[in-house]
Amino acid sequence: MTPAVNPPLGLLAELTHRCPLRCPYCSNPLELEQAAQELSAAEWGRVFQEAAELGVLQLHLSGGEPAARRDLEAIAAQASAAGLYSNLITSGVSIDARRLAALVEAGLDHVQLSIQAADAATADRIGGMPGGHGRKLAFARMVREAGLPLTVNAVLHRQNLDSLPAIIDLALDLGATRLELAHVQYHGWAYQNRAALLPSRAQLEAATATIAAARPALRGRLVIDDVAPDYHAQRPKACMGGWGSTVMVVTPSGQALPCHAAAGLPGFTFPNVRSNPLRAIWRDSEAFNRFRGTAWMPEPCRGCDRREEDWGGCRCQAFALTGDATATDPVCALSPHHALLNAALEEAATSDGSFQYREMRRQPASVG
Ligand code: SF4
Ligand code: SF4
Repeated sequence: MTPAVNPPLGLLAELTHRCPLRCPYCSNPLELEQAAQELSAAEWGRVFQEAAELGVLQLHLSGGEPAARRDLEAIAAQASAAGLYSNLITSGVSIDARRLAALVEAGLDHVQLSIQAADAATADRIGGMPGGHGRKLAFARMVREAGLPLTVNAVLHRQNLDSLPAIIDLALDLGATRLELAHVQYHGWAYQNRAALLPSRAQLEAATATIAAARPALRGRLVIDDVAPDYHAQRPKACMGGWGSTVMVVTPSGQALPCHAAAGLPGFTFPNVRSNPLRAIWRDSEAFNRFRGTAWMPEPCRGCDRREEDWGGCRCQAFALTGDATATDPVCALSPHHALLNAALEEAATSDGSFQYREMRRQPASVG
């Protein structure tokens, strides 16, 4: 069945792939787009207008690090002019109080700050930026002083999961009203560093218990969202709420994607917003329609009663693990490829934890 094409709720605008941090779990592609390819502020403004006309409500200004754009304030103003609720997803290491004030003046609505860990030594090691954690803490306080709502986002993995109680305490201390706990999704750089990042089942069970206890205890003070880790699951999530279902991603150079990891899928020509209206991309493009609905599904998804709940899981994960983007997501225990996950977990159990940092230009070898 092919569902009706509803408008996307959100637009994730990757303004740049430049970033002063070097997180080994970064979901950006291994071949990062260069500054010369980036859309201008005026081009983003047109995209935001088209997004609003299409029905988008929320705009996420992301990257890389969006503040690497000198014209971020102008881009935020374009978002405001289009009537979109704008959320800045930032590492927070390069925005001072004056720049934050300019962003507020431009109409920025919300800030989402990423942290790598609760303590500076671990956070700076994972982020690959000495002093980065301290700058984040200072930035979080600036955000609260500026009167903006603050969400803290922590990407969880084997090297920070044991400090989850301290991460929750830190989010409270920073005055966040929401904490997003997202286990690493193994795309891009994260897939490259999977063995160093996959948590053990014991770690995961302890973290699940921590979250279950914290939620009721912090009701009214801190909302905790968590994204479950795939590799320990028996059934997949509906990736992005379903292919081409709720979110459109636009890369720094204007490539429109149904998922931020989709650029690596072979056999696709993803349309570019420089030469295609957003409405046509969303509704009519072959790329956005390829995995909508259930008609494309192989068995066991085709005959499964969950096929309109999880939509067969993640296409990018299916491709990364099996080489076939149409395969049932191997996270599903019904997939003939499910054993691949156990093999990955066994490999991780013997890893020494070394990883390759994300770099703008790929290096032959560098470990953290
Ligand atoms: S995950 Fe880390 S390296 Fe990647 S964009 Fe975010 S802060 Fe930068
Ligand atoms: S077989 Fe397919 S539709 Fe059924 S639970 Fe597994 S991934 Fe989901």
